[in-house]
Amino acid sequence: MSDRFTALLVSQDEAKNQTNAFVELTDADLIEGDVTVAVEATTVNYKDGLAITGKAPVIRRWPLIPGIDFAGTVISSENPNWKPGDKVVLNGWGVGETHHGAYAKRARVKGEWLVPLPASMSPIDAMIVGTAGYTAMLCVMALERHGIVPERGPVIVTGAAGGVGSVAISILSKLGYHVIASTGRPSEHEYLKQLGAVEVIERAELTNPARPLGKERWAGGVDTVGSHTLANVLSMTKYGGAVAACGLAGGMDLPSSVAPFILRGVSLLGVDSVMAPRELRLEAWQRIEKDLDREHLRAISTLMPFDAIENAAHDIIEGKVRGRLVIDMTA
Ligand code: NDP
Repeated sequence: MSDRFTALLVSQDEAKNQTNAFVELTDADLIEGDVTVAVEATTVNYKDGLAITGKAPVIRRWPLIPGIDFAGTVISSENPNWKPGDKVVLNGWGVGETHHGAYAKRARVKGEWLVPLPASMSPIDAMIVGTAGYTAMLCVMALERHGIVPERGPVIVTGAAGGVGSVAISILSKLGYHVIASTGRPSEHEYLKQLGAVEVIERAELTNPARPLGKERWAGGVDTVGSHTLANVLSMTKYGGAVAACGLAGGMDLPSSVAPFILRGVSLLGVDSVMAPRELRLEAWQRIEKDLDREHLRAISTLMPFDAIENAAHDIIEGKVRGRLVIDMTA
């Protein structure tokens, strides 16, 4: 098999100007690792958008192939846990940030970073879920661990029409929660209801500076926005509730007070997908296979070719993307 393959390579000159180019590479150009994978599907996540547009310092090694997640088939392995032909998924671990990532027909990674592709899912199915969906599942699992079951009351999902938000709504509604979706896009209300949201509220309701305590509206939530939005979500969380925070689409700050924590016993649950331990990943992917509605999954995805990645990266940063952008690397 020829070891030449196409990759999207991001470079930086001395003045720190960034350029993106499709190039031909060989296996010798890849960074050290013990498993080589034929990348069959990948996605464009918000973080990939930041990396490709250069809007935030996601890339910390130059030049680099971006792309934080992929699914594919093992080509060769020096790791005893993987053999050629195995179907695998990768999320995070610095891939696409400090290690060559998914936007190439081939990737070489550490075997311990890989998890098996769920048996009933294709690489495209897995990437419709992608890091956004896997993070959504980590958020749901965090809420469950905290005892936020459907009987406790409604749950809010912010940044609802985005990738994490869309999958979170789909999972929570299938599990029987009363889901309130918060979006800045009135055009997406119907889409959010199709995903399972019972109520849709305007993003603007949550973007002004938060009062220390507001009316108790939900038992918990999944927040992908941060800043004033998370502060408002916390201030309106019912006594003993919990909010899983995973995103910063609206800002990295948290202009809140301790009132929800000390007067209502509210908990803020931090969720990180990048360095999440392997056991948690395996559990999340098992749950995704079981608890995600496959029809919803297709409804929230747009399938694109490899050369559409750059435009998609700009769209996601400009907040124009609905659901998940999936790249078919076999096309
Ligand atoms: P998307 O861009 O698909 O979704 C983000 C959504 O947030 C948008 O669709 C929009 O939803 C809303 N939004 C965008 N800008 C603003 C704003 N200025 N104020 C309020 N709301 C806004 O991104 P993803 O779903 O892929 O990721 C969401 C967040 O989660 C990102 O910050 C990402 O970095 C983070 N993330 C974190 C992970 C972790 O490990 N902790 C893993 C994966 C993602 P709407 O139009 O419906 O209002």
